[in-house]
This record gives sequence, structure tokens and C-alpha cells, in this order.
Amino acid sequence: MDKYVVKHFRDQCISCGACAALSPTFWKMDEEGMAELIGSVKVKDHFELVIVTESDRVENQEAADCCPVNIIHVEKKK
Ligand code: SF4
Repeated sequence: MDKYVVKHFRDQCISCGACAALSPTFWKMDEEGMAELIGSVKVKDHFELVIVTESDRVENQEAADCCPVNIIHVEKKK
């Protein structure tokens, strides 16, 4: 099964809340009003979460598509 990685460039979040509204399983707004990718780890200048199921990939791609500043990316894990 392919693995995917969700990348979130949190520093550029404009706190619109769209990702958390669309995908509360994976996204929430934190106490600073910024989006948080739940369970992710910081890697250099962004946060990452590995996902494995197709439904999780679709859900996070929808979150990526709704982000007005395009700071959520879903990529196949190398
Ligand atoms: S959709 Fe993008 S800009 Fe809006 S809260 Fe989520 S990560 Fe931040």
C-alpha cells in the first residue's frame, strides 16, 4: 500500500479555519488561532503526518484544495 505524507507550512497559515471545518479528524485550530495538523511532527520549516488509507488521502487533499494560501500538500511518500 502506498503511503502519503501531508505537509503543513504552518507559519504561513492565515487562520481561516477551512481545513478544520472540512476535516476535523485531522485538523484543528490551536490556542494561537493557527491550524494544527493533529499528530504531525515538525520537520525543518513545516509539519508532517504520514497517512496510509485512500480515504485519509482524499480527506487531506480536500483540505489542501480548500486552503486559500496553498500551504497544505499531500505527496506520495518516497
Ligand atoms: S485552510 Fe490553510 S490558511 Fe486556512 S486555517 Fe487551514 S492551513 Fe490555515
